[in-house]
Amino acid sequence: MNKGGVQLSFYGGVKGVTGSCYLLHTPSGNILIDCGLYQGKQFCSTDNYQEFDFAPSSIDLVLLTHAHLDHCGRLPLLVKKGFSGPIYSTNPTKSLANLVMEDGMRVMHEESQRCQQAHLYEVADLEQTKSQMKGVGYHTQFEPIQGVRIRFSNAGHILGSSFVAVEVDKHLLEREDDFRIVFSGDIGNDDIPILPDTDPIISANIVVCESTYGDRDHVPTMERGKELVSMIVKILGRKGTLLIPAFSIERTQELLYEIDELFDKQLVPQVPIYLDSPLAIRANERYRHFKQYLQFDRAILSSPDQDFFSFPGLKETLPKDSSMAINNDTRPKIIIAGSGMMSGGRIMHHAKRYLPDEKSGVLLIGYQAEGTIGRQLQEGAKAVTIHGESIEVHAEVRKIDAFSAHGDRAKLRRWLKPDIGEVETIFLVHGEQSVKKVFKDFLSQTSHANIAIPKLGESVQLI
Ligand SMILES: [Zn+2]
Repeated sequence: MNKGGVQLSFYGGVKGVTGSCYLLHTPSGNILIDCGLYQGKQFCSTDNYQEFDFAPSSIDLVLLTHAHLDHCGRLPLLVKKGFSGPIYSTNPTKSLANLVMEDGMRVMHEESQRCQQAHLYEVADLEQTKSQMKGVGYHTQFEPIQGVRIRFSNAGHILGSSFVAVEVDKHLLEREDDFRIVFSGDIGNDDIPILPDTDPIISANIVVCESTYGDRDHVPTMERGKELVSMIVKILGRKGTLLIPAFSIERTQELLYEIDELFDKQLVPQVPIYLDSPLAIRANERYRHFKQYLQFDRAILSSPDQDFFSFPGLKETLPKDSSMAINNDTRPKIIIAGSGMMSGGRIMHHAKRYLPDEKSGVLLIGYQAEGTIGRQLQEGAKAVTIHGESIEVHAEVRKIDAFSAHGDRAKLRRWLKPDIGEVETIFLVHGEQSVKKVFKDFLSQTSHANIAIPKLGESVQLI
C-alpha cells in the first residue's frame, strides 16, 4: 500500500444500485465506506458469496452512511472474515441497521435453504457486528485515526441517513491544504415531509456520488398527496380493498404520515388500515424513538398524542395469526405490506386474494425491479404467478412516482456544488450504466470537474 498518498478502490455499488462498498487507503489507515448486500431477483444467485477483494482484517474502521440493506447487509460477513474495528454511523442508523440486518438475515436464511446454499453468516456474526457499531452525532467532527477527521451530514434519504466527509490532514500528505473526500451514500428527494433537507457539501476535492435517478427529473413531492387521495377515494368508494406494497424503512412511515393527514383533513373515508409488515412495525418504534432527528412539515409534535404514525383505524398486525385474520375482514380497507416490489413477504397472500377483484386496487409507490410481480403489474400483466399459482389481474393498478427516495438529477447537480471552492473529481456510482453515462453528460454541461465512471475493482490514486 502507498504510504504517502490517498487511494480509493471501488468494491461494490458500481455495477448497479446495490452492494455499495468503497475502500479508502490513507497514510494512517484503511477506511471502508459501506458494506452492502447485492440485491438481485434472488439473493442466492448474486455476488454475495464472492470473497472480498481485500483482507477484511486490514480495514481499520468502517463508516456506514445509512441503514438500507444494500449499504449495511454484508457487514456481518466482513466481521466473520476478520474485521474487528469500529463501525461508525449516526445513532439512528446504528439502531435501524441492527433491525435491517436481523430481518435481512432471516430472509437470507430462508432463501439459502431453498437454493441449498450455506448461510452467508450466522447469528453470532451479527451479534458481534452489533457490538462493533458506534453511534456519533451529525455535524460533529471526530478523528478515529491520526490526522483523518470524519463528519456525518444529513442526506435527507431515510431516518439517520448521511453523507460522510473524510478529511485527511495536510501534514500527513505534505501539502498545503487538507484533502477532503465526500461519499454521498444515498441522497434524498426534495421536500420529504418527515425528513430534514439534505445538507450542502462544505468543501470537497473528491465526491463519490450516487446516480440512481441521474437521467430524470421527478414530479414534485407535493403532488403525491393528490394522487394518493384520488386512488384511495376511488377504490374505497366502490367498496374495494387497496393494497399498497411498501418498503418497510422510510417509504412506509412517509405513507402513514400522509394518510394520517388525509384523515385529519377528512379527505378520505375512515376505513381500517392494516400495517402488515413486521419490519415496518418495528421500524415505526425506532422512528418514534428518534423523532428529534425527523423534521415534520406540520406541527405534529404539538398534537395531543404526538404520534405521527398512528391514527384511528390503523391496525399493526405483527403476529402471523393476526395477519391471517385480515382475510376475515370483508369491509373496504387499505392493506400496507412488504415487500415493496412484491418479490415476497406478506403482500403476496393479499395479492392472491385481491388481484382478481375488479373493485380492488394496487398502488405502487416505489421502483419496481425487472422480474418482480410489482414490475409485471406496472407493465399491465393480465395474470401473474404467485406461489406457483396463476392469478388473474382484474384489480386496478396505479403507480405514484413522487414517493421516490432518491434525488433526481437536478437535485444531485445542486448538491454537487460545495459552499466553498470547486470539486476536482466526481466519481459516479450506484446507478445503472446507461444512467451514469447520461448523468455524466448532464453534469458536464455546467461542471468543470473531472467526471469518472469507475469499474468494479478499480483503484485510483487520488493524491
Ligand atoms: Zn438507501
